[in-house]
Amino acid sequence: MKKLITVFKGDGIGPEITDCVLEILDAAGADLAYEMFNVGAAEMEKNGALVSDDAYASFDKTKVLLKSPITTPVGKGFRSINVTIRNKYDLYANIRPAKSSAALKTRFENIDIITFRENTEDLYVGVEEQIDADTVHATKIITRKASTRIIRDAFEYARAHGRKKVTCVHKANILKMSDGMFLDIFREISAEYPDITATDVIVDNVCMQLVMNPTQYDILVMPNLYGDIVSDLTSGLIGGLGLLPSCNLGTDYAMFEAVHGSAPDIAGKGIANPTALLFSACMMLEHLGMDDIASKIRAAVEAVLAEGKYLTPDLKGSATTEEYKNAIIAAL
Ligand code: ATP
Repeated sequence: MKKLITVFKGDGIGPEITDCVLEILDAAGADLAYEMFNVGAAEMEKNGALVSDDAYASFDKTKVLLKSPITTPVGKGFRSINVTIRNKYDLYANIRPAKSSAALKTRFENIDIITFRENTEDLYVGVEEQIDADTVHATKIITRKASTRIIRDAFEYARAHGRKKVTCVHKANILKMSDGMFLDIFREISAEYPDITATDVIVDNVCMQLVMNPTQYDILVMPNLYGDIVSDLTSGLIGGLGLLPSCNLGTDYAMFEAVHGSAPDIAGKGIANPTALLFSACMMLEHLGMDDIASKIRAAVEAVLAEGKYLTPDLKGSATTEEYKNAIIAAL
């Protein structure tokens, strides 16, 4: 029986890359059925909500969501849909694997870094307070519960996947209580995993280290905001945002999405790179136990990248999304 999943089409380049990814999933023989919803700015204009109740009801039911990028309207009163969904479904672990493709020429080879980003708190709680006309306070929240579960997940993942090292990224030298507690918890938990090397690094230093000597890192675990920034940096190491997938995991629900945004500057031009969403879909297939299909798709992408004939402009090629997709399907 086909596994039913929910798909949010998003806006900007969202619809283009979603169509393309679903076509590739079908061509690869993924045994999936979809409940598909338009979400985002256009949906807001039509029906008054960025995400309809029906769309949420579908995710409530299927528990698996493939989500393409959604633009958050600028201005007061709009909370990011991404942040809203992560909190509504308690998707506390944002896992972002940055792995080099042997086929692409980048500054470094053999990058294989997974960022574990805490996904529910830190400055993302969105609590800002106008103190007076010239002063605004923003609240950073770090709790033992949320820190413990993301750090433990990072170590458990390392053990399950034969990874050797977990590094905690923080700013505990300045934020002595909040990041200080995150680091203390990291040290406590690391003691339970003597088979895995545990190190820590201050966030500014990790940025420098990542552009000088990135292969020293394996798994990185950190609070929400650092995870947002550092994972974009890791995407640059492997060839850009068009390549970095992610999954957002909670206890009961899982959402898979590209790390990049809706890229309004190239929307509608037919040149977006769908790989990040496609690799996110591969993570979804693995989550559903369809590892063989995920491997097949990854191998087809690698073959197309190696051939180098159908690369999208972000990868220094001149192919359209359509041509790239057709090449992947042919390789399958
Ligand atoms: P957000 O804040 O929603 O994450 P952002 O401001 O970081 O969004 P993105 O939409 O991620 O911005 O785009 C950043 C840059 O990367 C843009 O120039 C965009 O065109 C490019 N980009 C992002 N995703 C892709 C993609 N899939 N293919 C090609 N270029 C992309």
